Amino acid sequence: MLAEIKGLNEECGIFGVWNHPAAANITYYGLHSLQHRGQEGAGIVSTDGEVLRGHRNLGLLADVFKHGELDGLKGTGAIGHVRYATAGGKSLGNVQPFLFHFQESSLALCHNGNLINASSLRAELEKQGAIFQTSSDTEVLAHLIKRSQTGDFIQDLKVALNRVKGGFAYMLLTEKQMIAALDPNGFRPLSIGRIGDSYVIASETCAFETVGAEFVRDVEPGELVIIDDDGLHIDTFTKEVKHSICSMEYIYFARPDSNIAGINVHSARKRSGKRLAQEAFVEADVVTGVPDSSISAAIGYAEEAGLPYELGLIKNRYVARTFIEPSQELREQGVRMKLSAVRGVVQGKRVVMIDDSIVRGTTSKRIVSLLREAGAKEVHVRIASPPLAYPCFYGIDIQTRNELIAANHSVDEICQIIGADSLTYLSEDGLVQAIGKPYPNEPYGGLCMAYFNGDYPTDLYDYEADYLASLIEQKKLK
Ligand code: AMP
Repeated sequence: MLAEIKGLNEECGIFGVWNHPAAANITYYGLHSLQHRGQEGAGIVSTDGEVLRGHRNLGLLADVFKHGELDGLKGTGAIGHVRYATAGGKSLGNVQPFLFHFQESSLALCHNGNLINASSLRAELEKQGAIFQTSSDTEVLAHLIKRSQTGDFIQDLKVALNRVKGGFAYMLLTEKQMIAALDPNGFRPLSIGRIGDSYVIASETCAFETVGAEFVRDVEPGELVIIDDDGLHIDTFTKEVKHSICSMEYIYFARPDSNIAGINVHSARKRSGKRLAQEAFVEADVVTGVPDSSISAAIGYAEEAGLPYELGLIKNRYVARTFIEPSQELREQGVRMKLSAVRGVVQGKRVVMIDDSIVRGTTSKRIVSLLREAGAKEVHVRIASPPLAYPCFYGIDIQTRNELIAANHSVDEICQIIGADSLTYLSEDGLVQAIGKPYPNEPYGGLCMAYFNGDYPTDLYDYEADYLASLIEQKKLK
């Protein structure tokens, strides 16, 4: 048996606004455009300068706030969260923002990312008498802040932020201020925007379009952004920083209309498709992409290959992402409900099918057979990222190596398993060039490429031993 590396995944979306008369409503709209980052639960906490009020529940944002709950969230400051579904930790207690009431003040807190030293910190804190109410990593930060006792909240927060390791974008709200903090590698995107005299902060810039905000700047690794009635203050909690923006945000996770580190996600995906056509051209009649995340790459491939891009696959918009289903059987059923092939487009044709990534192989296998059932003569699969063979510990829900088809099989074997006529992945260098090296002087142009090469930008702390064991086991199997 391979060692199982599992953790609580916090692959989420966060949003906050300060100094706006309709803060909770703006947060609702902002979160709505971040719903793709998490569908399991949602919540908003607001402040009127005196009291923090919150509402949260399991489910999609629109369901959580369907009975007028927003009306009760008074005040001009608010933060909110949409949470990603995972097999574990699926309970109301883990839905954020968390709201803590202390003797003199209150604190709301939400988090996007995954801490890699959360369980050892938790054990240490429990030994000191802390009682945790949830199984979420996020609570650890609140305990660390409270224990620091410097007498100054921002100082306490800085102490706490230097203890947590891994991927984190935090939003905090007190009666008097809204604060955002980004981990020293900047794994997750986080940007600052402005609507007149109000500031907004969001996981992705697509939320700014929705609420009518203009982009101000990205939050940089190691920064603490404090917004209060005096305006915006940028502080830092560490100077030891190195950009390692999660490449999967560009490949799959973020919305195409978002910009990350100044690079538009759709354009990066389109370039990766073009590059794929240069690296892995194949004679064919049509190009199609798996909706929605692969359409940009498919358009790029078609343009470069001089082939027509066609809608060969249609997605039923009313089925949530299949990846969310915790069991393999449910996931397979999910793919069937979600996608259909368009017979008129693919019948009798040699089809190039572009997907952004292969994780377990469920989607590709199903799509190849859908296309064949619809009469495709040949199905050539092209993947707009390199083989995904290493887990992510910084907040993307891929934490068990034995689930990853490319960790256990060669490209030829995967091609056979998914039943394609040919299969080619984009090269590592091709991906880095296509995204466009947002920080040219840093490794991989400032991207985290660990999924593809195991080159983790940090120590792995609590995950190290399991991870090494899984690598050794893997070698034995091969
Ligand atoms: P699989 O069916 O397990 O091979 O998953 C591959 C599909 O899931 C691809 O079509 C991707 O668009 C999508 N995908 C890739 N990474 C993730 C992720 N971290 N969370 C959810 N879906 C993903």
